[in-house]
Amino acid sequence: MTPQKFTVSVVVPAYNEEVGIAAFLERLQGTLKGLDYEIIVVDDGSVDGTLTVLSALAAKNDRIKAISFTRNFGHQMALSAGYKYAQGDCVVTIDADMQDPPELITELIEKWQEGYKIVYAKRREREETIFKRVTASLFYRVLNTFSETPVPIDVGDFRLVDREVAELIGQLPEKSRFLRGLVAWGGFSATSVDFIRRKRMHGKTHYPFFKMLNFALDGVVSFSTKPLKMAIYLGIIASLLGFSGIVYAIWRRFFLPHEFWVTGWTALFVAIVFFGGIQLFTTGIIGEYIGKIYKEVQGRPMYLVKETVNIERQKI
Ligand code: UDP
Ligand code: MG
Repeated sequence: MTPQKFTVSVVVPAYNEEVGIAAFLERLQGTLKGLDYEIIVVDDGSVDGTLTVLSALAAKNDRIKAISFTRNFGHQMALSAGYKYAQGDCVVTIDADMQDPPELITELIEKWQEGYKIVYAKRREREETIFKRVTASLFYRVLNTFSETPVPIDVGDFRLVDREVAELIGQLPEKSRFLRGLVAWGGFSATSVDFIRRKRMHGKTHYPFFKMLNFALDGVVSFSTKPLKMAIYLGIIASLLGFSGIVYAIWRRFFLPHEFWVTGWTALFVAIVFFGGIQLFTTGIIGEYIGKIYKEVQGRPMYLVKETVNIERQKI
């Protein structure tokens, strides 16, 4: 059960957010007033003044803590570090660009107090560009077609998890971290609270189309071996087609008069292109999985911490 007196950790990944971060933290603290909380901002190797702004704020307020990476390791790694460092009884993850309204955290906490281990903030509406909305919807569709762990639709990385879930995620040794999948994979009791996703206040998205596509592919490969099965089926279909082609070619050679022998350039061309395409496609799929294995086997740390403010640095 939820303790009567509890602490909340709020994890904020920030990459080049120098312009908006101070206003965001102010608004966030406004909603957390009266609670026992810590805010962990993970500076994901920003090249602007994000860390300077953060350090100044943290110097005045020890509830604001910062972890700074040596370079940009990515949004998912920043969140993973947050889960590892967070001390609270529940951990909220929220973007720094005010697209996720901090005021919703109160509702997330209420649901958590009802006993849910995971409370997702679900995007009921998006005030983003049509392009972003279409690609996002495509993203969830592709993911759920393939993923063996259903990933909740229209749910991003704005959520609350219980300490138990945060610890599990923090301890998972997996290097390729598709957190939406990992959180759902645990099978903990979950619910959601709706909100309207506003436009970005400052700067621009770090997730352009190709990064989104890669992210979706990452999610699929991390949570499903279905594409490998698909490769097998494609292979079977191609072999069957190829086999009928062989039968036809032999039949033609032996049963038709010889002036027909040399024709068939089109068939040959189509066959080469078709099978070539399938081979490249399936090799690509296998390659993705090998790439993942390679990364896991190398065993490099997920991220490197350059410095921390108001929080003790942990060994990796
Ligand atoms: N972010 C990060 N590392 C990155 C890219 C983004 O820590 O490599 C942070 C970013 O500062 C923001 C959050 O992750 O707080 C979400 O990023 P963004 O707003 O660019 O994504 P979108 O909302 O467009 O999906
Ligand atoms: Mg954003």
